[in-house]
Amino acid sequence: MALTNHRAEKAGLEPLQANNDRRNLAHPLGSTPEPGELGSEAAAPGRVRATVARGLFANVQDKPETLENQWKCFKVLLFNHFCIQLPLICGTYYFTEYFNIPYDWERMPRWCMLLARCFGCAVIEDTWHYFLHRLLHHKRIYKYIHKIHHEFQAPFGMEAEYAHPLETLILGTGFFIGIMLLCDHVILLWAWVTIRLIETIDVHSGYDIPLNPLNLIPFYAGSRHHDFHHMNFVGNYASTFTWWDRIFGTDSQFHAYYEKKKMGKKTE
Ligand SMILES: [Zn+2]
Ligand SMILES: [Zn+2]
Repeated sequence: MALTNHRAEKAGLEPLQANNDRRNLAHPLGSTPEPGELGSEAAAPGRVRATVARGLFANVQDKPETLENQWKCFKVLLFNHFCIQLPLICGTYYFTEYFNIPYDWERMPRWCMLLARCFGCAVIEDTWHYFLHRLLHHKRIYKYIHKIHHEFQAPFGMEAEYAHPLETLILGTGFFIGIMLLCDHVILLWAWVTIRLIETIDVHSGYDIPLNPLNLIPFYAGSRHHDFHHMNFVGNYASTFTWWDRIFGTDSQFHAYYEKKKMGKKTE
């Protein structure tokens, strides 16, 4: 959102510093700003605290979350894992039994076929995620479900699964569609869940790590892409790839933001 960045600039901040400052002024649960409300705190004179703790990596975020907030996040994760995800995982047993999905060594697919199917699952999940995530941002329903995931405006790895239980179900459905359509061996379940977890932790990590092998995936969105979504609230709705945001123009503010940043560096 142009307004957000404007205000940060007025306050004399680097855009990424502004992101950290929002976290320094963390919103308690339930008072997360609505879309369009962002930026006011970054502009408040005297409240701005720029953090310039550059690490080894090209950081998207510089500052770790407080232990208190990490603990709060962890408790929600425990609930979601045991009460929502565990029954679904148990359900996959009945799925594999019902459809006679093989699990033996002999019928294990070749690694290249396994990777191709994981890519197919990712394409399906990303498509589901883009449209349903965008719907969850609709102003009439945002505050009831998706607002919780946006409590942390500067996300960190564990926050990837910090969400309302209904969101875990709604967006999690995209994970299972690929399995239902493409599963030819139990190994695909394990491979896909591993890749999806690594991917979602990576995009929430706050670090854009050089030589990250995930960047070899064509059209991979990465941490800067999703970090901008948490900072801006509007745009960059896809989970893994960049194409849906590009097709619908929902990444225009993201590109304008980095373009402006690049221009700023050139004129320095
Ligand atoms: Zn969102
Ligand atoms: Zn997120």
